[in-house]
Amino acid sequence: MKQRILVVEDEPAVARGVKDALSFNGYTVDVAVDGPSGYRSARDQVFDLIVLDLMLPGLDGLEVLGRLRRDGCVAPILILTARGHEGDRVKGLELGADDYVVKPFSVRELVARVAAHLRSRALAAGSQAKVTLGTVEFDFARRVCHRDGKTVPALPKEIDLARFLVENRGRCVSRDELLMKVWEYPVAGIQTRTVDNYIMKLRQKVEPDPARPRYILTVRGKGYRLADA
Ligand code: CA
Repeated sequence: MKQRILVVEDEPAVARGVKDALSFNGYTVDVAVDGPSGYRSARDQVFDLIVLDLMLPGLDGLEVLGRLRRDGCVAPILILTARGHEGDRVKGLELGADDYVVKPFSVRELVARVAAHLRSRALAAGSQAKVTLGTVEFDFARRVCHRDGKTVPALPKEIDLARFLVENRGRCVSRDELLMKVWEYPVAGIQTRTVDNYIMKLRQKVEPDPARPRYILTVRGKGYRLADA
């Protein structure tokens, strides 16, 4: 799954440099050039990490940061602060930023910081390389699943879907989020039954009674949630 990064930066040269470097390193990158559009993108789409400049037109970065955390945005946020503005840096960390880089920065340093944050997330998730749901054991590293020691035929996307649910256990994930993260759809709002069909396939594998799911729960009008272990 290609990781998506949002860069909120109004200086075109900085935005382009960061975007090029991150794209070169294999990430999908969106750029927003002011506070309001950055806030809307981060709120309405799903990103693995957000790079947020603090000095932005329209709505400053601290305000964007505060609103996103109040909205429940859980992506790591790395702020870009100006040299000499220590107060902003402290405020940013208090408001829920995960890290900061002081301008002017080297793009290599920024890419290294981004990679480190994404790696620590992946490590936290990867510690669950094998997970049992109901009667099925999933081996996410090898993308297979078993029941009683025998391979259960499953489509790769079923395994990816199970993995994403496990990584987000206890949290409601929307169809849009699943389409963008598991199926790599580029935009939100696409109408399709894909998610529901795959949830049905997965329930038929793991649920003792697929009509009354105990593991993969429906959150009416919102999406799906994997029950707490
Ligand atoms: Ca700026």
